[in-house]
Amino acid sequence: MSTPSAPLAIETSPALPPPVACWSCAGPVAADALFCATCRVVQPPRAIDHFVRLGMPRGFVVDVRELDRRYFALQRQLHPDRFATRSPRERAISQSQAVSLNEAYEVLKAPLARAEYLLRLAGLATADENTIRDPELLMEQMERRETLDSATRPAEVETCIGAAVADVMAAESDIASAFARGDAPAAAKGTLRLRYLQKLVDEARARHARLIAAD
Ligand SMILES: [Zn+2]
Repeated sequence: MSTPSAPLAIETSPALPPPVACWSCAGPVAADALFCATCRVVQPPRAIDHFVRLGMPRGFVVDVRELDRRYFALQRQLHPDRFATRSPRERAISQSQAVSLNEAYEVLKAPLARAEYLLRLAGLATADENTIRDPELLMEQMERRETLDSATRPAEVETCIGAAVADVMAAESDIASAFARGDAPAAAKGTLRLRYLQKLVDEARARHARLIAAD
């Protein structure tokens, strides 16, 4: 028996990095600010994590409506129309801010990407993407794949999709509690399982579409 590892504060939001100097007026700018408060000029994206960039608390459970609200509010401030009369440098900076916001949003809105990102932030690599080493997980995935492979009618595939979607939701709930109690190994294991379940859902949907098309 291995002793359980100490809980990790995976979901603790870090302190905001210290202010930086505005590239235009050298005034102080908060690390997560899009604009300088002194001269109002757009600022380049800083090296901050995705949660900080979108002003969300670090954690697996995300208020998706709040995430959307913040993302779209920030993107509106960077809309190209607002920079039509600005210098080429400002236009380029606003575009790189928009790209950074998109990247952060893509990761935070998808549970699987979010879980993998949280593990990376905590310095925990997720297991090899192409190999399942956990016998229990391997068996589970083989069984589900066999069921899907033997489904030849759309209704059978629909049953597979329903089961896989329910598994995805249960896995997300397991991951949420693992993160909440700082259990890194369980969070990593749940995340790997989620990756395979998600793949199964995608494959089942593709198979369903093919069967419907061939009908
Ligand atoms: Zn400034």
